[in-house]
Amino acid sequence: MPELPEVETTVVSIRQHLRGRRILKVWCDAPKLVRRSSFSVFSRQIRGARVLDVTRRAKNILIFLDRDRLLLVHQKMTGHFLIGKWRVRGRRVTPLSPKVLFDRVNGYIHLIFYLDDGTMLGLSDLRKFAKVILGSRHEILALPELADLGPEPLHKSFTFAQFYKTLEGQKRKVKQVLMDPYVIAGIGNIYADEILWAAKIYPARPAGSLTLSELKKIYKAMRRILKEAVRLGGTSVGDYRTPSGKEGGYASRRAVYGREGEKCPRCGTVIRRITMGGRSAHFCETCQRAPL
Ligand SMILES: [Zn+2]
Repeated sequence: MPELPEVETTVVSIRQHLRGRRILKVWCDAPKLVRRSSFSVFSRQIRGARVLDVTRRAKNILIFLDRDRLLLVHQKMTGHFLIGKWRVRGRRVTPLSPKVLFDRVNGYIHLIFYLDDGTMLGLSDLRKFAKVILGSRHEILALPELADLGPEPLHKSFTFAQFYKTLEGQKRKVKQVLMDPYVIAGIGNIYADEILWAAKIYPARPAGSLTLSELKKIYKAMRRILKEAVRLGGTSVGDYRTPSGKEGGYASRRAVYGREGEKCPRCGTVIRRITMGGRSAHFCETCQRAPL
């Protein structure tokens, strides 16, 4: 699933293409992606809308439109935006099969926004779990999946003192707490594994049992790894691509995530994968010792 660095990469990229543009029409072959209204109503309401800005909150993409409207997109498991062009060689061409224009990079485009300068914003989604909701700003911002989110881990105001307060008294396993968007927003399986490996913390430790110095290590690793991953365009595991169709550069930096059976880059111990509350955790049992 795209996490904070992948979503941030997407937002920065599509903002350049979308800001100030008008949406001419929408094409879709998986109408269930659009929630809280039928596709035909959605299509009618969004036609002609001008994009004011594109931002991110946790793993949600927020596309601000004129006339006080807001489009929320959560990419879920396999969703990701791709940018294409629908005006070929200066001529206006509306292809019979819009997918054809994207086939070079991806065959799972299910939703396309056509913009007034010939740009296409396509949503690729192999598993079709992505969620697209259009509403007034007030309606969208009040949705529990936005209103109840925890703080942004890279925000300036999220100091170590804030982090400490957030984790204090948590009885759950530290990895589960890091991945809970209502505690801290935007961290998923990949970066939780990487952060805990960097901080040398066993993923199943109860968060409340961590010492001050262990919490400091986690906090520092979290900021450093997320910033680095944003800088490198995120991590491509599975079919995630940046909107220009490139693979995210952080994949080769991964120490443990998805590397079961490979050697720990720090000590050479074979990396293990365990299941924790239905999710996997990758770790090095030498660097990240379980408490006795
Ligand atoms: Zn190790």
